[in-house]
Amino acid sequence: MRCRVCGGLMQRGVTDLPFKQSDRSIVVIKNLPVLLCENCTEYSVEDPVMATVEQILDAADEAAELSVVKYAA
Ligand SMILES: [Zn+2]
Repeated sequence: MRCRVCGGLMQRGVTDLPFKQSDRSIVVIKNLPVLLCENCTEYSVEDPVMATVEQILDAADEAAELSVVKYAA
């Protein structure tokens, strides 16, 4: 897979990413498997990973303004 921004090679890696859960709350997911561009800061989250992210967001506490969750496949 090539980067849609610069055309560089995308490499598998893990990173920590914030996701907006609602207007008020943010969930930071740690150790998220992503494809990272080796050339710029672009990243891509694959569909199966995104599905798991949605489950994590559903399960996260909406009353908390900021939650930090470790990704577990
Ligand atoms: Zn790139």
